[in-house]
Amino acid sequence: MMVARDHLVRHPDRCTHNALCIPVCPTGAWLSTPPFKFDSSRCLEGCRLCLDACPSQAIYAVFRKGEKVLVPQGKK
Ligand code: SF4
Repeated sequence: MMVARDHLVRHPDRCTHNALCIPVCPTGAWLSTPPFKFDSSRCLEGCRLCLDACPSQAIYAVFRKGEKVLVPQGKK
């Protein structure tokens, strides 16, 4: 069964609200006002510009294997 990226999450405790992730996104997937919600329908498959731009590593990907959501360890 294939593992696929399901959605991105911005960790509220790690986010410093400097919003560096917003201008790097080519599709405007992150809304620019708090609480900075994420529109997964706009996110490009395979792009990780916002993950790389975040200095506090507040953004992480949640993957799905079939019906099972795979949350990275320590990210719950
Ligand atoms: S992974 Fe790329 S397309 Fe998706 S939200 Fe981040 S910057 Fe935007």
